[in-house]
Amino acid sequence: MTHTLMILPGDGIGPEIVAEAEKVLAWLGEHAGLEVTSDHGLIGGQAYDVHGVPLSDGDLDKCRAADAILMGSVGGPKWDDVDYNLRPEAGLLRLRKELDLFANLRPAIVFDALVDASTLKPEIVKGLDILIVRELTSGVYFGEPRGIEDLGTNEDGGVERRGFNTQTYTTSEIRRIGKVAFELARKRGNKVHSCEKANVMESGKLWREETTKLHADEFSDVILEHMYADNCAMQLCRNPRQFDVIVTDNLFGDILSDEAAMLTGSLGMLPSASLGGADVAGLYEPVHGSAPDIAGQNKANPLATILSLAMLLRYSFDRGDLADLIEMSVQDVLNAGIRTVDIAGSDGCAVSTSAMGDALIDALLKRNAQSA
Ligand code: NAD
Repeated sequence: MTHTLMILPGDGIGPEIVAEAEKVLAWLGEHAGLEVTSDHGLIGGQAYDVHGVPLSDGDLDKCRAADAILMGSVGGPKWDDVDYNLRPEAGLLRLRKELDLFANLRPAIVFDALVDASTLKPEIVKGLDILIVRELTSGVYFGEPRGIEDLGTNEDGGVERRGFNTQTYTTSEIRRIGKVAFELARKRGNKVHSCEKANVMESGKLWREETTKLHADEFSDVILEHMYADNCAMQLCRNPRQFDVIVTDNLFGDILSDEAAMLTGSLGMLPSASLGGADVAGLYEPVHGSAPDIAGQNKANPLATILSLAMLLRYSFDRGDLADLIEMSVQDVLNAGIRTVDIAGSDGCAVSTSAMGDALIDALLKRNAQSA
């Protein structure tokens, strides 16, 4: 079966790190029989410079038609003065919105070789493997009404203003993100923590009720625990290994996924996936941004992008075997002490972006030879 892939390298370090993921893709084609037809498009500042918009209709259509999308990163100081709705980040938001990518998956994994990169004690984070499932297209970031209004003159003679946003969730929005979390838990540790603030928010109360009902209806084989989001934030620092899958709303997910990511201590190692309905292409990208401070210097860590490719193979191409192979090869490279600048530590010697990609190909070759 031939899969179709749309590749959007983007800005800053994007082209450098995506090139290394493409090396891996080519290797899988040659040695593991993976058949992929890929096309390239522009997103972010690159697209703005060429098309005057951060994502053209043509490239959006190609993304729609593909089985999956692999993206590098967007943004940079060059576009700081561009209108808000034409800025590089707006291209990414458009892509997520147009494809209705409602489920954002962010794994937080601590590789044994990098256990000292975390600010938490090794005995707390060793072996950590959490998956945060964040609702991405609803909640307080999208709810109406929203705005800032003038309330007249206040006691000090200044203008009194009120800023407001609305948190909303419907039954179907809660059920569809809940389903994603339960289904993923079945393939992992079989446990879901559902996090909200049901104690003080009606939307949280509904979230808890609907998740409980969904669990009873379809997923009673999975362990479900409810947790208030503030307690979850605390537990992530106190005892993070109690978690397998955490499902939560857009706002709490934004915060909790960043917190979980930082438990690993290495931004250049963190992949992500954004998934929509069954017939929609998933979007896979590293968590980090375009790192303008090191762009064009062959210094960036490509592993977050390569691990994003592994997620793509697992979730969009149904090739968990190849995802496992990549993830194990990443471990091999780290165990061999090979590090880019972001994970090298103060006394470490760092390799370049392309040397890290080459080291990974060597590790893939070795694993392939062992299994032959
Ligand atoms: P950033 O993630 O780009 O960089 C933060 C720090 O981490 C920098 O010091 C950078 O050098 C380092 N870093 C990031 N990725 C690295 C990698 N793979 N290897 C080695 N070091 C790495 O965040 P920022 O500086 O706040 O943002 C820069 C630009 O990226 C901004 O325009 C921002 O809007 C954009 N951004 C884009 C995305 C995205 O594309 N999804 C996400 C976050 C930020």
